[in-house]
Order: sequence, then structure tokens, then C-alpha cells
Amino acid sequence: MDELGKITANLPRYRFQQIVSAWFETSIRSFDSISTLPQNLREQLKTVDFMTVFPTGIKEDKGDLTFKTLLTLKDGATVETVLMGRVNKKITGRPGEVRYTICVSSQVGCPMKCTFCATGRLGLKRNLTWREILDQYRFWNYFIADHLEGKIDNIVFMGQGEPMLNYENVKLTINAILKNTELGPRQITVSTVGVKAGMEKIVTDPDWPAVRFALSLHSAITETRQKLVPSHAPGFLEWLPEWAKLYHERFSARTKFVGIEYTFIKDANDDDKHLKALVKLASKLGKTRINLIPYNSTDPNMLGSAMEVIEHWREELMKKDFTVTIRRSQGQRIAAACGQLSNKVAND
Ligand code: SAH
Repeated sequence: MDELGKITANLPRYRFQQIVSAWFETSIRSFDSISTLPQNLREQLKTVDFMTVFPTGIKEDKGDLTFKTLLTLKDGATVETVLMGRVNKKITGRPGEVRYTICVSSQVGCPMKCTFCATGRLGLKRNLTWREILDQYRFWNYFIADHLEGKIDNIVFMGQGEPMLNYENVKLTINAILKNTELGPRQITVSTVGVKAGMEKIVTDPDWPAVRFALSLHSAITETRQKLVPSHAPGFLEWLPEWAKLYHERFSARTKFVGIEYTFIKDANDDDKHLKALVKLASKLGKTRINLIPYNSTDPNMLGSAMEVIEHWREELMKKDFTVTIRRSQGQRIAAACGQLSNKVAND
């Protein structure tokens, strides 16, 4: 149990909830300012960190409304998190209104070693605590309040690490955010490389929130996927349709779909054979949304597919009635794009 857990263990539950809800108020920046708490409790909380992540530098790509920071944790470990803005006339009707997506990390490093991803090369140091995950949100929430305008309307667990290997902490964080902000489950996406144990849990765990789910597939052909994703489990592609059936049963709302992410590596997973295999697999997964992802360079020996190839895939998939999008890459100039997070903010 962490320090806060020990202090609040014998108090009524609402005390703990008052503390958590104060973490979301940008006007409150210390335990001492939580006026709803009795003075003696505020005294006790002096031993608890109000914030568990500390920025060591912020990189900004002005043209792209993208910010990236390297956060240092209490034990000296570091993780990256990204803030991506977009001007959203559609929602507000007012020009210039900015909505932000934050990309959060769930682990220090990552053990999955996907060949095209810079984070994989770091290896795994440790899981983040739920507070360290939550505090990435809080960090950006304060940052926007202090320096920008607009608000966070999307959270993607697509930073460093594999969220399904840190299941309980990711769940605690998401549930705290859902409880204390205006964000709904459809504004949060958890992305996994395909950890079967975690995927099995989300379809059976009543406390797993109905957030969006995305699978980093990258190939529907076993031999190719094994190469790109070394953590690929034997039989994974054959198991996937069975799992998708359970997923749709568990999350039956009409908006629910299995998200599929597909990063395009030249001459590896981008020919017609791979396209056919994806069509065949995806048609067995119920409602899907396929996100085609241009590769962001992380290795000079690996090239991304040409944009025409990705567009060809989109057209072919649309002809087959799939919902398809091509991911717009944000933050490449500051190495804040997907797969480029390798803890280099401070020293490059
Ligand atoms: N471990 C989880 C969460 C990390 S998200 C997962 O794998 O899903 C990582 C996302 O970034 C995935 O969709 C992955 O496909 C994408 N990605 C990783 N490296 C990339 C790169 N070099 N270029 C483009 N996308 C990349």
C-alpha cells in the first residue's frame, strides 16, 4: 500500500475521494489547499507527494500544436508523455478552440520489443503506479491551465509501455478519470500489442470500463507478425475471432468496435497478400475500425510504405465496407510521434 493508502485506510471512504477529486482541480496545487479536509489530515498528508511526475523539459512543435515532455519520477526513472492539440470548430462552432489529446505511458520502457518501435529498444524498467499514470493527465491539465487555452478531450494509452501488462494500475487510473472529469469512456483508448491474458480480463472483469480498445495488429499473417512483433503468441490470430465475439457481447453498445492498428513497413507487411489476409481476418472480428498508420522513422534501416500504398489499402478496405482511417502523424519534428518515444527530450 502506498503512503496515501496507509493514511486514508482507517478514514471514511469519502475522504480518499475528496483527495482524488481535488487532484483534478487546477486551482488546487497542494494538499494544504484542499479546504474540505480537516486540518489534522492535511498535516498528515505532508508526507505524501501531491505530484509524482516532474517535467525535465518541454519540447514544442508550434506548427503542429504538439508538446512532449520527459517526466522524471521519484526513483529517477523517466517516461515520456505527449500533448497533441487540434482546432475543433465542429464541437464548439468557435474558431480557434483547441481540444487536446494526451498520449500517456503505462510503463517505464517496454518489454515487447516491436521491431519498428523506439520504446521497445529501451527494455522494461518497471510498471508505473496508478498515480504516476494519473499524474501524466494532471501534468498536462495544469500545463494547459497555466500556458494554453482549451481542454483535454481524449486520452490514448499509446505512449511507452504495454498497458495490458500493467492492468490494475491502468484500470484504477481510468476509473479515477471517468469519475472526476467530464470525459466519458469513448474518449479514452487503450492500445495493446495483443496480450492475451489482459484481453481475456477486459471481457470478463466487471470493473473494466467501456473504453475504446485498439489492437496493434500490424499483420494478419502469422510469419510476418512474428517478425514485427516478437511477443506474438502462438495461435493468436486464430484465437482473435473468438475473443472478438466475447468483446462484442461484453460491450454491446452500438458504438463499440474492435480497433485495429496497422503500421506500414515497406516490403514487410504492405503487399496485396497482406491486404487480403487483413480483409479475411477483420471480417471475422465483428464491428471494427481500422487505423492505417504511416511509419515514423525510428531506425534508418527500416522504411515506411509509400503514401500511395496506404491510400490504396484504404480504398480497397472501404470497398469492402470497413471503417478505415489513416492516422495523421503529429509531432514528428520533435520525435513525439507514435513509436518515437525513447526518452530523449532532455538531451537532443
Ligand atoms: N504497447 C501498446 C501501446 C503502445 S501504442 C501497443 O503496442 O499497442 C503504440 C502504437 O504506436 C501502436 O499502434 C503502434 O503501432 C504505433 N507505433 C509504434 N511504433 C511506431 C512507429 N515507428 N511508427 C508509427 N507507429 C508506431
